[in-house]
Amino acid sequence: MTKIAYDAGHGMSTSGKRTPDGEREWMFNNKVAIAFADKLKQYENVELLRLDDPSGNRDVPLSERTDKANAWGADVLISFHHNALAGSWGTHSGIETYTHPQSSAASKEIQRLIHPRIALAMGLKDREMKEANFHMLRESNMPSVLIEGGFMDSTIDIQALRNDAKLKAQGEVAAQALVNLFFLKPKNVSTTTSLYRVFTGTFNSSRSLADAIEMARREFTWVFYERAESLDFNPTYRIFTGTFKTKAAAEEAKVKLQQKFGWITYIREEVI
Ligand SMILES: [Zn+2]
Repeated sequence: MTKIAYDAGHGMSTSGKRTPDGEREWMFNNKVAIAFADKLKQYENVELLRLDDPSGNRDVPLSERTDKANAWGADVLISFHHNALAGSWGTHSGIETYTHPQSSAASKEIQRLIHPRIALAMGLKDREMKEANFHMLRESNMPSVLIEGGFMDSTIDIQALRNDAKLKAQGEVAAQALVNLFFLKPKNVSTTTSLYRVFTGTFNSSRSLADAIEMARREFTWVFYERAESLDFNPTYRIFTGTFKTKAAAEEAKVKLQQKFGWITYIREEVI
């Protein structure tokens, strides 16, 4: 059994932890945490323990969070956060991941697996792997990584933070890193078939969407688009390919889209 502890940093009403427009950090963290857990629930022999209050009502003290993870005997702890610099809008940007300066080699390995995936999922600048003496990392007895998935007070990063598809992707790629690390097996492999599609990041106007579709149709027979879930008032769209029977074929298509057009792309598995 692999025991995975995780939390969305803070609580809904924690003071200071919000964007200059008043959006709560916990709301962003929560969406990532939910996607992370939903993905891991698709694997066998995984137990999950959420350390914060899933309703967001209570900001569970940090010592309570790490005590809970330690008492439970978690194999790994992942803490989801979003960053702030000065609390007023600026153009600083990027994702960071943290381990404790005295952390185990296992923490570093998990950080190395998670870090590049987060930058890719969010489509934001990579501000490198870092170390810090954070409570969640210092007081947890198991390998632990804290993720800062972009700046809440960045006019650049907020676009990604307001995009639910990107927050979902952030949680899923963090989960995928653990799937790879622990060699987790998907549930019900014998009774289901997986197909794979390649999705792009979002386009924020119908004009850029139309251009993107036209470009993609030179490469692929089937190109679809959908309106992306977003907190943004402006509609955003993303495009996706038809299905591929193997992950390898989807990977190839993903690389092609990335290299030819410079788009953020990711693969989505569909279990049928
Ligand atoms: Zn935070």
